[in-house]
Amino acid sequence: MKWLFLILFVFSISCSNESNESIAKEFSEYKWVDLSYDFSDKTLYWPTANGFKLDTAFHGVTPAGFYYEAYNYCAAEHGGTHLDAPAHFAKGKWSADQIPLEKLAGDAVVIDVSEKALKDADYLVTVADIEAWEKTNGKLADDIILLFKTGYGSFYPDAKKYLGTDERGPDAVAKLHFPAIHPDAAAWLVKNRKIKAVGLDVASVDYGQSKDFKTHQVLYEQNIPGFENVANLDKLPIKGAYVIALPMKIKGGSGGPLRIVALIPGK
Ligand SMILES: [Zn+2]
Repeated sequence: MKWLFLILFVFSISCSNESNESIAKEFSEYKWVDLSYDFSDKTLYWPTANGFKLDTAFHGVTPAGFYYEAYNYCAAEHGGTHLDAPAHFAKGKWSADQIPLEKLAGDAVVIDVSEKALKDADYLVTVADIEAWEKTNGKLADDIILLFKTGYGSFYPDAKKYLGTDERGPDAVAKLHFPAIHPDAAAWLVKNRKIKAVGLDVASVDYGQSKDFKTHQVLYEQNIPGFENVANLDKLPIKGAYVIALPMKIKGGSGGPLRIVALIPGK
């Protein structure tokens, strides 16, 4: 879809009065897919993280006679559909507010490992999985957003099935079982391909049983952000979607709630 934005850009220079109209028209050729879960008391968080809390500040008819509602919310950065800023595991790298916008939008590729991952909750995506995709679909293009579909999205928000445990607190961490990306595959990607960001339909880029969070370290050291608990990956084509992932702009944040959406061809 890069050509589309190039055409729109050129068009906007030559015909600036009509550019808004033409962008809307171009967008109407595509369908929006929401890749975010909503935030509620069902939202899944790491066993040691604070969950999402919504307190009612006011809800109803005011003494002045008009209707009004407003809430206060509170949550950990890392829960539900969210961004991992590189600073989360790499000192001095981008925090949530520092990630350039162009890193948060781009052509997306989906690598489906669900067949293996659904049989093994400790499955780790290998270099061979990526090479198998490339054998069929061609080399991963530069500047893509790379998404891994493990199939675990279909379990959300059932914590026991999705995370391996529905227990909370420090002792629950050892009971986490869900698939993710092998550190060697992350290292291979960093060395051999040029990706903007990585996302997947589980709670972490490292698998549930990880002790050193090596995949986090390898990716974030290279300023490659992560998108975790991405929803609806089964609604995306393996190629041809355009993803826009806009996190809450927390100054100095190590991550945050993420609204991630995709545009796919067809109305
Ligand atoms: Zn995270």
